[in-house]
Amino acid sequence: MAAKDLWSTDPRDALRVGPDFDLASFDRNGQPGWDGDKDDGQAYLPERGEEMSELQERLFAEGREGGKRSVLLVLQGLDTAGKGGIVRHVVGMVDPQGVALASFGVPTEEERSHHYLWRIEKELPPPGRIGVFDRSHYEDVLVVRVDELVPEDVWRARYDEINAWEKELVEGGTTIIKVALMVSYAEQGERLMERLERPDKHWKFNPGDLDTRSKWPAFQEAYADVFRLTSTEDAPWYVVPADKKWYSRLAITEILTRTLEELDPQWPVADFDVEEMKKALVATGEDAPA
Ligand code: ADP
Repeated sequence: MAAKDLWSTDPRDALRVGPDFDLASFDRNGQPGWDGDKDDGQAYLPERGEEMSELQERLFAEGREGGKRSVLLVLQGLDTAGKGGIVRHVVGMVDPQGVALASFGVPTEEERSHHYLWRIEKELPPPGRIGVFDRSHYEDVLVVRVDELVPEDVWRARYDEINAWEKELVEGGTTIIKVALMVSYAEQGERLMERLERPDKHWKFNPGDLDTRSKWPAFQEAYADVFRLTSTEDAPWYVVPADKKWYSRLAITEILTRTLEELDPQWPVADFDVEEMKKALVATGEDAPA
């Protein structure tokens, strides 16, 4: 069986949030749509990565020739869910020139003085690029809600505002892929302990991570509302089980690659006479002019 056939269901169908989605019963250790095992997945990843990379280069070339299309990958997930691993192992398979990466941490004083979408808009991918958001405007309805950083009526109004804003982006030529990496409470505990046990991982640990972990139920509720209220036809959410890192990487690679395949970017046609240029090149000879 060819490796690609191990995807018995398109991961976009297997992972897309629909009306019946229930976060509480979601299996965070699952591998929806993939019938192979870890070895199969790890073997297939680089193969698919190459295809993704070529498609990305075509999109880039199209953008250089006046194309308006771009892709935006929004990554959300609690600490240790593996956002960094997706950036390194999935996005890392494409040419860095074609990627526009932005991370959103605690807003600076200047960012706080603006509308919450101000800092986000500044990082939108230019045509031809794959934009990657490591955290995003969704923090403004997640941590901001859980930590009560603004009154409830303010964050409640943001779901509709985000939907309208994303719709406009899509209409402008950006394909938005929203991915939430969902790790289990037990697995998060193990990953945090690993960060504490390994000196080469201490830099990744932040004592505030334990505070966030202690608010687990509130974050789950906030995530459930994000999925319920902002998974739209224009910009659906894909909820990806994150306890198996090999699966989340494989699934997101597949979602990106299938999306690019459907966009089907074409190599631009040369705006010069290729045959004439070949002749002109041959005429320059093989020896450097003295
Ligand atoms: P990471 O933990 O992803 O490695 P950072 O430590 O730089 O990255 O920043 C992430 C932190 O920033 C998280 O705790 C997140 O909740 C917080 N954050 C992101 N956006 C906002 C926001 N709009 N308001 C408040 N806190 C935010």
